[in-house]
Amino acid sequence: MRPNILYPLFAPIDTLKGIGLKYGKLIKNLCGDKVVDMLFHLPVNLIDRTYTPPLKNAVDGRIWTGIVTITEHQKPATRKHPYRIYCTDGTAELVLVFFKVYEDSLAKNYPIGEKRAISGKLEYFNGMWQMSHPDYVVLPENLKTIACQEPVYPLTAGITNKMVLKLREEALSRLPDFPEWLAPNSLQTLEYISFKQALEKIHHPNNLADLLPSSTARRRLAYDEILSNQLALAFIRQKVKQQKGRAFKGNNSLYQKVLDSLPFSLTKAQENALAEISADQNEPYKMLRLLQGDVGSGKTVVALLSMLKVIEEGVQTALMAPTEILAKQHYESITELCKNTDIKIGLLTGKLRPKEKREIYAKLAAGEINILIGTHALFTDSVKFKDLGYVVIDEQHRFGVNQRLSLSAKGEMCDVLVMTATPIPRSLLLTAYGDMDYSKIGELPAGRKPTQTVVMNVNKIPDVISGLKRKLEQGTRAYWVCPLVEESEKSDLAAATERYEMLKKEFGDVVGLVHGKMKEAEKDAVMEEFKLGKKTLLVATTVIEVGVNVPEATIMVIEHAERFGLAQLHQLRGRIKRGYDAGSCVLLYGYPISAEGRERLEIMKRTEDGFYIAEKDLELRGGGEILGTRQSGFTQFKLADMSCHTDLLIKARDDVQEILKTDSKLETERGKALKILLYLFEQNEAVKTYLAG
Ligand code: ADP
Ligand code: MG
Repeated sequence: MRPNILYPLFAPIDTLKGIGLKYGKLIKNLCGDKVVDMLFHLPVNLIDRTYTPPLKNAVDGRIWTGIVTITEHQKPATRKHPYRIYCTDGTAELVLVFFKVYEDSLAKNYPIGEKRAISGKLEYFNGMWQMSHPDYVVLPENLKTIACQEPVYPLTAGITNKMVLKLREEALSRLPDFPEWLAPNSLQTLEYISFKQALEKIHHPNNLADLLPSSTARRRLAYDEILSNQLALAFIRQKVKQQKGRAFKGNNSLYQKVLDSLPFSLTKAQENALAEISADQNEPYKMLRLLQGDVGSGKTVVALLSMLKVIEEGVQTALMAPTEILAKQHYESITELCKNTDIKIGLLTGKLRPKEKREIYAKLAAGEINILIGTHALFTDSVKFKDLGYVVIDEQHRFGVNQRLSLSAKGEMCDVLVMTATPIPRSLLLTAYGDMDYSKIGELPAGRKPTQTVVMNVNKIPDVISGLKRKLEQGTRAYWVCPLVEESEKSDLAAATERYEMLKKEFGDVVGLVHGKMKEAEKDAVMEEFKLGKKTLLVATTVIEVGVNVPEATIMVIEHAERFGLAQLHQLRGRIKRGYDAGSCVLLYGYPISAEGRERLEIMKRTEDGFYIAEKDLELRGGGEILGTRQSGFTQFKLADMSCHTDLLIKARDDVQEILKTDSKLETERGKALKILLYLFEQNEAVKTYLAG
């Protein structure tokens, strides 16, 4: 299916000369497994090697490039001493210093009496110019190839910049001239160069400005990537819209009953969201809708109320949660909300005994369960509904576009509502969920008490502990969150365990510990104890981030809060907003703390508005990193940066509308080029679903 013109770029990356077995794996980890991934591995900095004055005029500490004559080799007295090579450019003497280098290669690369062009960092030492381990040594006639602006690439241990430079060169040589997929007016108004020119320019920058997101080359590439994303989502959306669905009108009986028994009245925002969902349900098309609402905004009630309409017609519904704990929690709260009705609710988790499972399967098949709640185990083949009409996915940003697609394919005529508790900035919403309609619950129920957030140095821990003691004695429960330590999970765990031991000495047996390395069942057990109040202080790594509901817990201490992203801090703090009392959150910071880290903590202190925090997060960190994690399910752009390319997003959306209007099957010359674009950016799912008819 992939157009032939793309073959060279989709060849395995280790077909690039010079990678070989030894480096193949490293390179794949670094940029990806295809040649095109090397091309999309963009430089992040420059080394200026154009500084070439006579040595006698050179400045200490700069990267110097020039031609020298080798005069003498001085072998080290022992292996601990450096190998020295003396040379001169005619104006001053320079000594090249090497540690632990094969003498043979030095003899070969620096033959006495000959000239060589070298480049490296100059240091003035003991009254003499010195350069340790020159970055380059080439024949004098090749001076030009090294005296330039050298792009610096993100690297990994074992891969040098030089290697990447070479691979990049070869990857570029495989880059074909693509037919232009942009409309002439886009090219003009955005002052674009061609895709190929843009890639060549970025890999051969003349100055730092060429590397910035604002450069002509970066913007062209970013636009291409965004366009491919928006086009793909538009196709998926169109496809979904054409799919037949069922119209659920209901008779209001259950709906009214549950609504009347709620101990509160719905917020305006909840009512609006419900009305939007209901309008979709009334239509004989498939619903694919995102329900966005901050932690505690009351999505569960909305989800339940929207299910009732379907149940009233004798059709089944399902609610899928990301973890077992959450599934159970949903089960409990929904059971409570439905207690005045005869709605049958089932909970399907991995923990059930085979017999219990079989019972549930039987009831499901007989239509005796109206709402099935569970994890993704809901969608294994053994789970057969009598008549499933509506699926709610509480996704907590765990699923990507492709996963959602395959999910909605399972329930043929199913309406799908995806709920997310992460406020998503508008630009990301359009790129990650552009295939869906969306509703937003933008307000919290009235009367929620604001959480008080304080920022303190970690050396205040003793004060925090004595404060905690008083509170715990009064019956409060508290979380103590330990940070991720770099990338090593081991030390992460060690830090949390150490804190746990220390707090246990202070507080005794009421301290519990949960961390990511625990088995699900062990984790659940500790959480359960915390819920029941057998433990009142829960030490945790970020595993508690996902929506655990313990209303007695109103205190949260976050250690090294400066290491967390804004979205993560917001999610964490959300845990203590469900309480009977106003929450208090202590953000402990340590040194070093970056200016950005400080700002994050300030923002957390200042506001609880998740949507505002999300926009700030995007601004501070850029779109590629939003929400911190790779598995976040958000579109990970390689070339576009959502913190500065939102204007391109808006333009791409208009562009896509135009394409759908005039060339919706991609049949014109430009249309065919756009197909190449889709494959180039691996929008395969969209191409498959859409272009396969
Ligand atoms: P979310 O899933 O959006 O984080 P939940 O649906 O779990 O939030 O609701 C959080 C809490 O707020 C629940 O205890 C719920 O009963 C309560 N709640 C929901 N809607 C309202 C409302 N309109 N007024 C008061 N409390 C509400
Ligand atoms: Mg919820």
